[in-house]
Amino acid sequence: MAQVFKPLSNVPDHLALEREALERWDRERTFERLREQNRGNPRWSFIDGPITANNPMGVHHAWGRALKDVFQRYKALRGFDQRYQNGFDCQGLWVEVEVEKALGLNSKREIEEYGLAEFAERCKERVAQYSEVITRESRRLGMWMGWGNDYHTFSDTNIEYIWGFLKAVHERGWLYKGHRSTPWCPRCGTSISQHELFAGEYKELDHPSLFVRFPLKERRGESLVVWTTTPWTLPANVAAAVRPDLDYGLRDGGWRLATEDGEYDRVVKGEELVGLEYEGPFDDLPAQADVVHRVIPWEGVSLEEGSGIVHIAPGAGTEDFELSRAHNLPVLVAIDEGGRMTSQYGEFAGLTTEEVEQPVIDALRKRGLLVEAGRIVHRYPTCWRCSTPLLFRVVDDWFIACDEIRQPMLDANATVEWTPPQYGKRMDDWLRNMGDWNISRKRYFGLPLPFYPCSCGQLNVIGSLAELKERAVTGLEQLQELHRPWIDNVPIRCEKCGEDVFRITEVGDAWLDAGIVPFSTLGWNNPEWIEHGYATGAAKGLSGADLPDHAYWEQWFPADWVSEMREQIRLWFYAISFMSVTLIGSSPYRKVLTYEKVLDETGREMHRSWGNAIIADEALDRMGGDVMRWMFCAQPPQQNLRFGYGPADEVKRRLLTFWHSVGFLVTYANIAGWRPEWDAAPSPEHPLDRWLVARTAQLARDAEEAYERFWTPALTAVYEGYVEDLSNWYIRRSRRRFWNSEPEALATLWWSLVQALRVVSPAMPFLADHLWRTLVLEGPDSVHLAGWPELPEPDQALLAEVAEVRRVVELGRQARSQSGIKLRQPLRRLVVQGADGVSGHAAEIADELSVKQVEFGEVDASELRVKPNLPVLGPKLGKELASVRAALEAGEFEELDGGRFRVNGLELGPDEVLVERRGKEGWAVAGEDGLTVALELALDPELELEGRVRDLIHEINRLRKEQGLELTDRIVLTLPRDQEELLRHEAWIKEETLAVQIQTHGNEVKLEKV
Ligand SMILES: [Zn+2]
Ligand SMILES: [Zn+2]
Repeated sequence: MAQVFKPLSNVPDHLALEREALERWDRERTFERLREQNRGNPRWSFIDGPITANNPMGVHHAWGRALKDVFQRYKALRGFDQRYQNGFDCQGLWVEVEVEKALGLNSKREIEEYGLAEFAERCKERVAQYSEVITRESRRLGMWMGWGNDYHTFSDTNIEYIWGFLKAVHERGWLYKGHRSTPWCPRCGTSISQHELFAGEYKELDHPSLFVRFPLKERRGESLVVWTTTPWTLPANVAAAVRPDLDYGLRDGGWRLATEDGEYDRVVKGEELVGLEYEGPFDDLPAQADVVHRVIPWEGVSLEEGSGIVHIAPGAGTEDFELSRAHNLPVLVAIDEGGRMTSQYGEFAGLTTEEVEQPVIDALRKRGLLVEAGRIVHRYPTCWRCSTPLLFRVVDDWFIACDEIRQPMLDANATVEWTPPQYGKRMDDWLRNMGDWNISRKRYFGLPLPFYPCSCGQLNVIGSLAELKERAVTGLEQLQELHRPWIDNVPIRCEKCGEDVFRITEVGDAWLDAGIVPFSTLGWNNPEWIEHGYATGAAKGLSGADLPDHAYWEQWFPADWVSEMREQIRLWFYAISFMSVTLIGSSPYRKVLTYEKVLDETGREMHRSWGNAIIADEALDRMGGDVMRWMFCAQPPQQNLRFGYGPADEVKRRLLTFWHSVGFLVTYANIAGWRPEWDAAPSPEHPLDRWLVARTAQLARDAEEAYERFWTPALTAVYEGYVEDLSNWYIRRSRRRFWNSEPEALATLWWSLVQALRVVSPAMPFLADHLWRTLVLEGPDSVHLAGWPELPEPDQALLAEVAEVRRVVELGRQARSQSGIKLRQPLRRLVVQGADGVSGHAAEIADELSVKQVEFGEVDASELRVKPNLPVLGPKLGKELASVRAALEAGEFEELDGGRFRVNGLELGPDEVLVERRGKEGWAVAGEDGLTVALELALDPELELEGRVRDLIHEINRLRKEQGLELTDRIVLTLPRDQEELLRHEAWIKEETLAVQIQTHGNEVKLEKV
């Protein structure tokens, strides 16, 4: 007989079926057809935050990319037209650092010797290579995007849009060149901005801890005792700070913060020390010529550590630098770009900040200035790209002032709906505290800042390629793209004095590249659509993306939804919001979903150097895309995700239950030769079928609610609950009907499985489509083309009734397991109290619990014991507790409904008492929340015989499996003679085991296929 459905294997081979689906989607143009199907419908705009095309994907990237795909697929099922444009981040420090590593270059000098043009080519090659790798990996994860029409942030078009933004910023007077102390990476040779500092890591580092004496000039024999953990900054010392209102004490000739129990020769207020001059530790260095060292007041002096007197080196610390402005102190810059002491520092010149530690300590000791030298382990910031400990350096950088934009950005953020909501507040906090945006990096392969400062004082800012061409003096012929070194060879004419001016050499912060995307990729202000017009400059050949026109921008801006990890609050979310509020005064996104970090299985951060990082490819090879996606979906996004193969196996097991449910239908439909009708709406009669229809409608409704609020943990929870109900209630309770090939049961289960597949397909696109192809013989050829199911209102009364039945059964099982009597042994009677609404289901309950009779009424078979819940009641009752406890113990209480009790005239709630029900002799009792069941345990010969029959049936069915019999095979059964009495139930045994004949012979059970 030809089979209606292709049989399912026992367990899914996730990798094989995913490979098959990917090939089929390609072959059948499934994604393109989906886009065509939805074209012209209402729009749903998602804007992708770019992934750095720099390395293979890690599993932490996969989390976000899975979520993005889940919601795009869901919105597609709902019929929305979408853009599906993926983005790659392509320039800036992160790409440079990887290319440096690959080329074995270790400093900026080596990059310059290698040649900027060659270096730029290597950076582009790396981006080309890894955008391909990431595309392949994303497809394996099931991500549907318009691959090949990606945006690459290093396109000339993207750069031009940023130029336009910077020009607008300049016209508002927000652009300035700042001279200030900033965090500096000596390896990368560039400053690090505030948001990058946060994004970087603080590490536990071991540093020197020095107490040093600064002799006071006018007071012979007295000196200041200062504390420092950065010996390299001492040669740049210009001042010492005290807190004026605190007590300082003199001991052994040294002034330091006075503690209450310390003994001092003299104690004075800090203000008395202010203004005193002292001898610096290294006054003989050229850098120190003409420096007058003195004591200054500072409220920020720490009381936590050190001596209460802070050494101030304005060239080597941010706060120190601010103090130099307030107190007119000289600023001595101690280190060069590479973190080495400059030539002004005599014997220390040329040493790194680390190399100089010991020579400084030795020199202090020789001069008699060292009070104490130890070590300290403390948290210290490191470079987010290369992990080198950061230094502080005074440099010239370009900034965008943010005071004027702060309030408009806060207003814009107030229009955004954040999920989880607390992250919106974090954005507000960031905006309230953000400093000016440091946009310049002293590097090579990045956004060329279009700033051309002229010696006449004019700052020329170029806003577009057309403007550059118009004002260029020479060099246009070699300008292959808007990157260094080519752009550096194009001087322009100063708009004020007409002199030739060159661009500054700095490149831009990479967040400018990613931040302009809601404008540059959507064609803002572009008069006409340009085919492939986005793929310019370095992006040429990598992408076919168009540059749309302004009308398109108006259709797709702002994004209805964006989603990135929480760290992006002060990075991408901040950057796109900053640029959008600047350009048009409103937020570029309406809703945000953000999520935390991926940790390893044990809860440690993942690091390549620790050997516990998992790259996406490896995880995909071992668990497949669906399992990975399900793990990500199940994870509450406000908590770190522990990623590992143990949790993945657990997910596999859960998905297996659904697979088996489909397998069950396939098996029995094939036996029955039953064929589904694609468009038949179910209107079954049987209560179980009616219930499953309602339960499926409820699933669709719950899932819709979860999707609509972008909350995947609710989606996986409602789905797993549904599968449990489906398999552990509907299918289990309906087995006999399937054995009997009842068409109504087959049709109801088929219909329900098909709807469930549509509902879950966004989260597990491969498995859902595979099962869809198994079950759906007519109708859409992919679940992803099938749309969201339009289902009738679920019958809530029926759902509630069955839920109550299941509670009764669950309690009955508990009571049984307490009694130690196995389920196969039938019992006489179950009494149910508190669930009268389900009395119509007595037969079902009896069958589930294998009891002869179910009664609804008062359970007097139990003893109720109630004790006070001390942690709750103790604080509430105080002294009264003792008498309440005594009354409860004596049984002097009244049981009220809802799990409440009255005792001593007080009413106690369910959480205030601990309730225990014990069966009286001969009964097993279980209860919760006002529902109690009691199982009568006494056995009689009739019940015992039935128990033996059930054992026998169980044994025979085990043997059927063992002997490899088909579900439909009939048998001849041989029973041992001593079991002859079981034949009182001959018809029953035959029916359950498909025996056509039973004989008794010998002393073991045998079966034979007929
Ligand atoms: Zn670095
Ligand atoms: Zn000029």
